[in-house]
Amino acid sequence: MIEIPPVRKIILLLLIAHSSWLAASSQYWQQQVNYLIDVTLHDKDNTLDAFEKIEYINDSPDTLKFIWFHIWPNAYRNDKTAFSNQMLLNGNTKFYFADKEQRGYINRLDFKVNNATCAIEDHPQYIDVIKVILPESLAPSQRVTLTTPFHEKLPYNFSRGGHEGQSYQVTQWYPKPAVYDKNGWHPMPYLEQGEYYSEFGTFDVRITTPKNYVIAATGELQDEDEKRWLLARNNFFWEPVKQKIKQKAGTVKTSVQKFPPSIAETKTLRYTQNNIHDFAWFADKRFIVNHDTCQLPSGKVIDVFTYYTPSEKEVWKNSVPYCKQAIRFHSAALEEYPYNVVSAVQGPESFGGGMEYPTITLISPTRSTRELDLTINHEIGHNWFYAVLATNERDHPWMDEGVNTFYDHRYLAERYHQLPSEERALFETFAKEKLDQPIATTSENFNMVDYELVAYYKTSEWLRWLEGEVGKDAFDKAMKDYYDRWKFKHPQPEDFKKILEESTGRNLDSAFSFLNKKGTLENEQRRGTKMDFLLRRKYFSRFLNNNYQDLITISPAMGMNSYDKFMLGAFVTNVKLPLNKFKFFVAPMYAFGSKSLTGTGKLDLSFYPERILRKVDLFLNGSAFSENEYVDSAGKKAYLAFQKLVPGVRLTFKEKDPRSNLHRYLQWKTFFIAEDGLRFSRDTMMNPPGIVTTVRKIRETTTLNQLLIVSENFRALYPYRGEIKLEESKGFVRTAFTGNYFFNYPKSGGLNVRLFAGKFFYSGSKTINKQFETDRYHLNLTGPNGYEDYTYSDYFIGRNKFDGLPSQQIMIRDGGFKVRTDLLASKVGKTDDWLAALNFTSSVPPGINPLSLLPINIPLKVFFDVGTYADAWKQNSELDHFLFEGGLQVSLLGNTVNVYLPLIYSKPFKDYIQSTIEKKGRLWKTISFSIDISSFNLRKIDPHLSF
Ligand SMILES: [Zn+2]
Repeated sequence: MIEIPPVRKIILLLLIAHSSWLAASSQYWQQQVNYLIDVTLHDKDNTLDAFEKIEYINDSPDTLKFIWFHIWPNAYRNDKTAFSNQMLLNGNTKFYFADKEQRGYINRLDFKVNNATCAIEDHPQYIDVIKVILPESLAPSQRVTLTTPFHEKLPYNFSRGGHEGQSYQVTQWYPKPAVYDKNGWHPMPYLEQGEYYSEFGTFDVRITTPKNYVIAATGELQDEDEKRWLLARNNFFWEPVKQKIKQKAGTVKTSVQKFPPSIAETKTLRYTQNNIHDFAWFADKRFIVNHDTCQLPSGKVIDVFTYYTPSEKEVWKNSVPYCKQAIRFHSAALEEYPYNVVSAVQGPESFGGGMEYPTITLISPTRSTRELDLTINHEIGHNWFYAVLATNERDHPWMDEGVNTFYDHRYLAERYHQLPSEERALFETFAKEKLDQPIATTSENFNMVDYELVAYYKTSEWLRWLEGEVGKDAFDKAMKDYYDRWKFKHPQPEDFKKILEESTGRNLDSAFSFLNKKGTLENEQRRGTKMDFLLRRKYFSRFLNNNYQDLITISPAMGMNSYDKFMLGAFVTNVKLPLNKFKFFVAPMYAFGSKSLTGTGKLDLSFYPERILRKVDLFLNGSAFSENEYVDSAGKKAYLAFQKLVPGVRLTFKEKDPRSNLHRYLQWKTFFIAEDGLRFSRDTMMNPPGIVTTVRKIRETTTLNQLLIVSENFRALYPYRGEIKLEESKGFVRTAFTGNYFFNYPKSGGLNVRLFAGKFFYSGSKTINKQFETDRYHLNLTGPNGYEDYTYSDYFIGRNKFDGLPSQQIMIRDGGFKVRTDLLASKVGKTDDWLAALNFTSSVPPGINPLSLLPINIPLKVFFDVGTYADAWKQNSELDHFLFEGGLQVSLLGNTVNVYLPLIYSKPFKDYIQSTIEKKGRLWKTISFSIDISSFNLRKIDPHLSF
């Protein structure tokens, strides 16, 4: 026996403790949770009443004092939940503005252990997560049984679960322990973008509903009678019936009854399943049921069920074969399907998409059988990458969605001989624009577009690249090894890497380093140049599905204005997806009216410094059109033209948060404009004596510098835009601020408030001559006309027309008033000093919009404008301090064309209209309109793109 000195004893003890801790930490463990749930559906008020019994087995080396529980139905309780906030940030206001009736919640919880009530603590942040304190600590390898009743109101199906009428999707519905793993607890709120992480166990669930509901659920149905009843429905379904409803006044109205009435008698069905980590069920009285068995390679026979409503009958008629194909495809690629049943259920339109649960998937109506086939393949594939390999999907979405998508793309190639070219083109566009995020981004931190393009598509491409690196056979074997080693467990990214390295015998450090990098992968290189014609057959499919570095598109170009009349030419561009650094378009045209060459074009060179600035664009715009006509000395019609050349630079700031909807840029443009003008001169002729006026065309050139500072936020709720514009040219500086703020109305539409404030400065002293020369640059209360569009930036039908329809066109700039006073020598509210205005535009709710009776949708709005300007405040001025107007507005072609009918206005406008416009047709002549082609751009598709 040897005596050990105390210090050495302590060190030794520490060493022993440390080595056992090391051994324990290297040994994989996971918790187990077994459920017994009894639930009843009340379809009158869309509620559930249930009782849950949970057996929690602590296989961790730690003693637990509490268990974090997810009570996710509370995600729908109010508009301040993590779910609600994320929906808003992703541009969806439906839940935020939902009625109380459409929201949902869970309550009447009473957790007990052996009849002792457990204390509950709220989560500091999330209303749908609670901490259940255990009455006694739970030691390693001990188990505890908790019970709780719960009552739940199902929300309208905004996201994966709830109900639409009496069609029920009961998902994320019961109190459920969060995962406890080597990294600790993983409590998480319910989110639309971002999925699950759950403990494995067995489920034994009893579901009670009115007897005529068809139930589809996770696991195996334990009632043979019910199974026979289901199979008998194979060729039976309920047709929606037209029902006569007596209304109050005694009139009879016919309506389509969507759901058959529920019968009073109820039934209780039992479903069981082991080795799963979630349970979902669906109830609908209209379901058609299809069934078949499917034999797997080992000889095992499983049941395949599909459930769908009569309206989807055509698309879903082959749904069972699709399911069988998906099961066989994944069984062959990985390992045989481990459960005895698989089901696909058609859900409502409202939630949109497909959603996986163990042994069962929910799919909303698809457009085609092909889309259904591919969706079923993806969702059933999740039985491998989610149900069996239960990764932490919230933190590593690529491990389920990305890996699963890799097998989707294999299926797409094998069955349809196609590549995911659309996703490719979009992903590469985002990568080129430096808007992509690395694969190893958490679900919550992905922006909505990257979640789709990176977590799904890019991961799949990365695996395809890896497959090419190690060879298909080695890759397939490695994936099989991964599945076999980690089935019914929680693999982490490092576990995935380790098994792939072991299986292939290769170091995959550099391959896995791509998970943390942005940008395109090596197998996504594009080469060569191709020329294509827009009018050629299948142009758009080639546009998306090609491997060219450069694609030159040629198409006919057409144009029209009052002077040039019809224009015809060619449009040539290299704009494509993904965008190249150098982009151009040119559209030279021949004008049949002016018999001249017209056209427009743009060159743009982009750089991506990726520090403070995301993007720098150097560009050169140009255009040439006719802008007026006159009769020359010889009595012949002649045309006045303009040409402009605009070099510039735009600096787009990098937004720190990739989920931000903010877009900020600084832009410099110098306009070099050449315009034709007329010079009238009087010649004194000797023979015959007299005075003749000759008209001579002269060339005038202008240079104008413009600095623009813009900050705009395209968020769904209260989007805004602020713009500072400074312009300088010979004799003046013009400064202007324009702000727009949109207040959403709960159902749709909203109120737009625009604020304008501008000041005009003369450089040097003001002279009568200078005032005259700078007239077109002065600030306007009324939207400027074509002559005052001094940068030739808007499209005008007839730029300098003084009568007829073209003369009624204005642009929304400066004061933004719609009443025109063009025939006055000095227009009402035109100033060379300062000007300010507020413009209100509100949509009219469909209920009180008389135009909503028309078969086509014409959005009616009301506007009200108020403005003031320097001249009205001058001493001895007789002008009103404030001018106003209000009227109706119709917005067409996505707000590109707006037509305004002023109905009320201040006295100066009234006096003008009564004195200058004859009574007949006066209303028609007070109408004005604007065409804003700049508002029609790519940003409507994605806020970050601009070209
Ligand atoms: Zn998926």
